[in-house]
Amino acid sequence: MDCCAPSNMTEAIKTECPSCGEKGKNVQLITLKSLLRASALETVEPKNSYVFCSNPACPIVYFSGNHSQTFEENNLKVPVYPKNQSVDVPVCYCFDWTRERLFQTVGTDQKPADEIKSHVQAGRCGCEVNNPQGACCLGNVNAFVRGINL
Ligand SMILES: [Zn+2]
Repeated sequence: MDCCAPSNMTEAIKTECPSCGEKGKNVQLITLKSLLRASALETVEPKNSYVFCSNPACPIVYFSGNHSQTFEENNLKVPVYPKNQSVDVPVCYCFDWTRERLFQTVGTDQKPADEIKSHVQAGRCGCEVNNPQGACCLGNVNAFVRGINL
């Protein structure tokens, strides 16, 4: 028996969104610290785990793993891809590839995903503090570009 384990280790983290029920992705605290507006940041509990809901139809951006807290897009300083449908929302936050800018590469020689990839490989990306999903945007960029080239 491990009687010395901290009791908070036994608390189960729920990764299903309390609003839409879809499974979200764990994000680091630094992402919330970087992107939440002050009024929302003032309520963050650093001992909580936070999860990003990527369902475009769901208003919840982040929720805590114990479901005690939720944050919506208006709690963030930036518009949130893929929830915000505007053309000027970044798909790649680090290098500012908005939907509109990606649309503009259609029929040109520009390969945004390759450009972003080379910046990532050069160690220039800061997804954990720029991208609300707290992770690399390349999957989203590739899926988006595939979608407009259909
Ligand atoms: Zn959701």
